[in-house]
Amino acid sequence: MESAGAESKARRARPVIAIDGPAGAGKSTLAAHLARRFGFLNLETGAMYRALALKAIDHDLSFDEEPELLELAERTRIALKPQLEGNLVMLDGVDVSRRVRDGDVTAAASRVSVHPRLRQWMVEQQRLLGDAGGVVMEGRDIGTVVFPDAEVKIFLDAAPEVRGNRRYRQGVPAQAEVTEEAVIRELKERDARDRNRVESPLRAAEDAVILDSTAMSLEQVLRAAEEIVDAHLREPKG
Ligand code: C5P
Repeated sequence: MESAGAESKARRARPVIAIDGPAGAGKSTLAAHLARRFGFLNLETGAMYRALALKAIDHDLSFDEEPELLELAERTRIALKPQLEGNLVMLDGVDVSRRVRDGDVTAAASRVSVHPRLRQWMVEQQRLLGDAGGVVMEGRDIGTVVFPDAEVKIFLDAAPEVRGNRRYRQGVPAQAEVTEEAVIRELKERDARDRNRVESPLRAAEDAVILDSTAMSLEQVLRAAEEIVDAHLREPKG
């Protein structure tokens, strides 16, 4: 798998920018910004897990049964359509962009994404999407597994309380009765599942630049990341 990545590196005229990190760190905002700034496509891989989770919900499938989920995936078409502010998510030709952000789908995506063979299926799709370069790809395992040869890797982190507070203030999830504590608890649960799964757990690649935004403003994060990409474009490493 690593060699497939290395081969593609020789062919890529434009870079792959990998952005990984825990839920609520601001990856989507950063990815959309960098894509606009440098004229790249932004691809939110979490939306693919969300789309499959939605289909599993609609088919009344258990989130714990990998063979059924894999079989479902193999007869599913998931397309991401990059827009200025994020991705349109198409599931079997239907726009599910809003629905996949609902709380039940968020929780289901976190559970569905632990399954190794299902992840392999996703990774294959994601490599096809990003292989030509000129993309900002955002997720949990982009710099470690999907594109270990990505030209730029950023791991965007922040303390759970800060991430939860930002999410809460943005009104995500939208239900009025949700408390800030509940948002933080849910983020921590998803983090724990992402970090502790056997297959491609969430971690920073050894060659990633770690941006801890706990004490940074959004503006500072965007500038710091722009500088990292600019530095690569001025002087590509290889
Ligand atoms: O990034 P987002 O919150 O939309 O991702 C939804 C879920 O999909 C996450 O909670 C995570 O468990 C999973 N995911 C993943 N690998 C990725 C992207 C997302 O496991 N590359």
